[in-house]
Amino acid sequence: MFQAMMKTVDSEVARTLEACLEGQELSEANAERLLAAEGGDLHALMWAADTVRREDVGDDVTYVVCRNVNFTNICYVGCSFCGFARHKHQSDAYDHDMTTVLDKCAEAIDRGATEICMQGGIHPQKNHEDYRRVVLAIKERFPDLHLHAFSPEEIDWGHRKSGMELSDYLQWLMDAGVGSLPGTAAEILDDEIRNILSPRKIKTQRWVEIIRAAHRLGLPTTSTLMYGHIEQPRHVAAHLGLIREIQKETGGFTEFVPLGYIHEMNDLYNVLGSRPGSTAFEDLRLIAVSRLFMRSHIQNIQVSWVKMGHKLGQIALSAGANDFGGTLMEESISRESGSQFGENTSPEDFRRLIREMGRTPVERSTLYRPLRRFDDPALDPAPAASGQDASLDQGSPEGSPLSVAL
Ligand code: SF4
Repeated sequence: MFQAMMKTVDSEVARTLEACLEGQELSEANAERLLAAEGGDLHALMWAADTVRREDVGDDVTYVVCRNVNFTNICYVGCSFCGFARHKHQSDAYDHDMTTVLDKCAEAIDRGATEICMQGGIHPQKNHEDYRRVVLAIKERFPDLHLHAFSPEEIDWGHRKSGMELSDYLQWLMDAGVGSLPGTAAEILDDEIRNILSPRKIKTQRWVEIIRAAHRLGLPTTSTLMYGHIEQPRHVAAHLGLIREIQKETGGFTEFVPLGYIHEMNDLYNVLGSRPGSTAFEDLRLIAVSRLFMRSHIQNIQVSWVKMGHKLGQIALSAGANDFGGTLMEESISRESGSQFGENTSPEDFRRLIREMGRTPVERSTLYRPLRRFDDPALDPAPAASGQDASLDQGSPEGSPLSVAL
């Protein structure tokens, strides 16, 4: 079948895909070419990525039961793509006290969460002690919760306030209870692009320095990319190359998550004239290229249901991805930038969506340890009895995904 399909596609694309299927490493130049695949070439790319996914990680689709907790939306960094940040005098600015944060964690545990993903704005009055204090308070009350906390931007801020060596600062947070870092604030790891998106944000070298330091200490991170704004395929290919290079050296990335840019309510689109986000075809190309490019290095390619929605997410899971992300419970960063796909996906909905694809749902830990397989729908926990599948309240003003920026 593959041979027949290859007759309809560009010969160079066919050669590249065949090499990937044989286990050869995809080069940045060839990744850039595949990022422009259309029509039959795109179908062949998706088919090849899905084949590699099946060979490498099987038919399970994983998800994590987690909650986003944003302790503050006050931030003065001024990223042009951000619809989440507020200045402190704005009426909807917030800075949660410890009781509110702990209540959110307690509510998440009641609903079955194993992870709290905690990120926030760069509040000018906060320092390293504030970051550690909230970690200690959460871990004291909920020692079994995995804390996936603090973007590299927040790590940079706290580190500069601390006066410590970077590795000492990270170890200090790990000793307090941080279990992994979100690999956010990456956007596109190219300073030409970053200087337009976020002139005041950490540069590529600093992002890489923080991630490498974390990995060297045994502190895992995720890895992300934000696309669909002003970048070109060459920037995406170089970003993929940098992530793979770090992974070859450290092995510290747990997953790669391409994040489509949401354009409606920010200056990058409304003032600076970016593209209006990615097309569905770009989303699928990037998932498929990520699977092929990261082969043997990063096994978990995640779809962001927050960015794509459930239906396109299902298709992406048939184009190379194997992870559906987290329940999130509260999502506001993408929503406040214009995303229409809601704030929560219940475990029950994940299982239904995954089974609709003929795949097997598996609840995982943050670090991809399988926690529960759901082979037989008849044996699923009843939502009310499990305490984790109940519908969640909508409309909360807080929360964030592991996703965009921060
Ligand atoms: S993306 Fe993060 S750092 Fe940038 S303005 Fe928004 S909250 Fe601040």
